[in-house]
Amino acid sequence: MNKKGHVLNAVLLSIGLGYLLEPTGDLETFRTMIMIGVPVSLGALFPDVDTAFGKHRKTLHNLPILAAFVAFPYVFGNLEYVWIGVLTHYVLDVAGSKRGIALFYPLWKKEFGLPIGVAVSSKRADLMMVLVTVAELVLVALVVFEIPQWGFEMGRKTLGI
Ligand SMILES: [Zn+2]
Repeated sequence: MNKKGHVLNAVLLSIGLGYLLEPTGDLETFRTMIMIGVPVSLGALFPDVDTAFGKHRKTLHNLPILAAFVAFPYVFGNLEYVWIGVLTHYVLDVAGSKRGIALFYPLWKKEFGLPIGVAVSSKRADLMMVLVTVAELVLVALVVFEIPQWGFEMGRKTLGI
C-alpha cells in the first residue's frame, strides 16, 4: 500500500473509532476522532520509514516493533494510540497488498501476506483499503459491543441469575 492508502486508512479508521467509542455524534465524538486520529495517522506512516532505513517490509514491519509501540505509553507515559496506526499499517500491507511483511523479522525473514491482496499500483488498491478498514471497524465493534455482552451473559449463567 502507498502513503495515500495508509493515511486514508488511518483517517477513516479514526473516524469510525470516534463513533464507536463516543457514539453521541457531538463535540465529544469529534474530540475523540482528533485525539485518536493524529497519533494513529503518524503511526500508520511510521513502518514505511524502512524504505529509507533498513530493509523495506522487514525492519519496521514486524511484531517486535508493534510490541514496542504497545509498551511505550506504559513505560514512558506518551505516544498513546500510535500502536493502532502501526497495527493498521501491518494489516493493510498483509491483507490489502500482494507482497506480505516479515512479521517475525529479524528472527525469520519470511514475508507473510494474504492471497486476497492486490498490487500497490492497482486501480483496486483504494477499494481494498476501504474494505480492510470496514473489516477492522466491524472487528472493533464486535470487541466493544459484543464481548462485554458475552461476558455479562456468561457471568449471569455462572451465577444462575
Ligand atoms: Zn508498509
